[in-house]
Amino acid sequence: MIRVGIGYDSHRFVEGRPLVLGGVTIPYERGLQGHSDADAVAHALIDAMLGAAAAGDIGQHFPDNDPRWKDADSMELLSAAHSVVEERGYALVQADLTIITEQPRLTSHLPAMIAGLTRRLGARPGAVSLKAKSNEGMGFIGRGEGIAVIAIATLEAR
Ligand code: MG
Repeated sequence: MIRVGIGYDSHRFVEGRPLVLGGVTIPYERGLQGHSDADAVAHALIDAMLGAAAAGDIGQHFPDNDPRWKDADSMELLSAAHSVVEERGYALVQADLTIITEQPRLTSHLPAMIAGLTRRLGARPGAVSLKAKSNEGMGFIGRGEGIAVIAIATLEAR
């Protein structure tokens, strides 16, 4: 049995925080606001995997008013969400993500993010796909106010 889930996340750019995406710290003048490290790539992927397993969402598993997750490493949350999915009897087949941001340019950082996510999920090489694009200057992303990520994940019953 194959199941598919979708995830979406967005975060606002702020001064004075590191920009962490897919577990990789990216040199940039601003970072993302959030209770955890605000890694929108990890968050969208978590929601895609949880959704595919009908296992709720990131807010239910890691509430943003819980001091345990203050400044949390979202790759740790990703591992925990992966465990939830495995406990329900599913294995990750593949995931595909699109990061939408006007700045910074992310293309050169994608391989490191993909490698880290693949390793973290114990997935096969080629199981994780990550893409980046701009929003052609439109809307909150186009104005550089924030970033958005969409993710899709496929699980199979083990
Ligand atoms: Mg988030």
